[in-house]
Amino acid sequence: MRALQIVSAGVLEVRDVPVPEIGPDEVLVKVAGAGLCHSDVHVLHSPEWPLPNMTLGHETAGHVAKLGNDVTGLAEGEAVLVYLVWACGVCRPCIEGRDNVCINAGGRDAMPPCPGLGPDGGMAEYIKVKARYLEPLGDLDPVTAGPLADAGLTPMHAINGARHRLTPGSTVAVIGVGGLGHMGLQILKATTGARIIAIDSSEQKLEIAREHGADETFLSDSDTAAKVLALTDGYGADAVFDFVGVQPTVDLATKIIAPDGALRFVGLGGGSFTYAADSLTSTIPWGVDVRRSYGGTRSDQRQVIELAKLGKISVETKQYSLEDGIQAFADLEAGIVPGRAILVP
Ligand code: NAD
Ligand code: ZN
Ligand code: ZN
Repeated sequence: MRALQIVSAGVLEVRDVPVPEIGPDEVLVKVAGAGLCHSDVHVLHSPEWPLPNMTLGHETAGHVAKLGNDVTGLAEGEAVLVYLVWACGVCRPCIEGRDNVCINAGGRDAMPPCPGLGPDGGMAEYIKVKARYLEPLGDLDPVTAGPLADAGLTPMHAINGARHRLTPGSTVAVIGVGGLGHMGLQILKATTGARIIAIDSSEQKLEIAREHGADETFLSDSDTAAKVLALTDGYGADAVFDFVGVQPTVDLATKIIAPDGALRFVGLGGGSFTYAADSLTSTIPWGVDVRRSYGGTRSDQRQVIELAKLGKISVETKQYSLEDGIQAFADLEAGIVPGRAILVP
């Protein structure tokens, strides 16, 4: 079969690889579409990431092609989504429903295994997956559903952890309206009564933000913080989601968060801020709670699928053939993909 693999740091190739053999508790899924996440770009360029000859793709949906001997509850031909978090399922955080921070992931800063970032992912004709990591999609189209597994899941988790600040009358700022941000906007619109401000460095992305529920849109520049504060009587946004995480957006996020606000860092752009434990040099107002939000739980995943089934959220896609996958990476890096790029084998 054909697969898009990392050959070495910075080098991609679409090449022939064997169709995976499945074990008794596994399922062979014929991929219908695989989303391309900005994390794939980070991984591609990271010299630290030891994954040569690995198939990328952690946002995968498709049809069940073959069932392992012990698998029950799934049928051949059924449309399924591959859940991102391949956690152990039995440790204390897992049984508490916090499988995204599974103890057995391998340390305080580790992530549970996920497809395309260790095990082979979905940018291929087939992927093998343990049956328990599959979510039935019902009538949802698997060509475009893959990004529900991260671009949908990850904002849902960050938003679910900030609901106490997303009451009607509150203001929320979404920084970065790419794959994650455009889904985050729709989830906020569908599930909260908050006023939504969207911020991006690209006018094209702000147009997408207006289509997907933003009440106000601002280009990110030196005046953005002042504009957000002016809209909120100088108080700031009750919740801020930074889906970029570069230094300018981290700075902006800390400048616009309101007292007692929920500050959620999701983007992995390498920015940082200093916490100062005194009033003179403090970088954030009183009461702010800060979370470094990773992925989402199985429960968050179900909620995302249900919202999609109700037609309340949908992935805006630009589709590429798997053979054109390297072009899709280039377009994502150039910032010209609206919503999410999908590779279709
Ligand atoms: P994307 O490329 O689709 O979107 C990024 C958006 O940010 C684009 O719209 C771009 O125009 C905008 N942007 C870039 N620089 C900006 C700036 N200075 N100010 C304002 N906007 C700016 O990326 P994505 O796939 O949505 O991923 C976003 C980030 O989230 C990446 O860093 C990715 O690695 C990370 N991520 C984190 C998790 C997690 O669990 N924490 C999960 C998935 C992705
Ligand atoms: Zn991702
Ligand atoms: Zn666990």
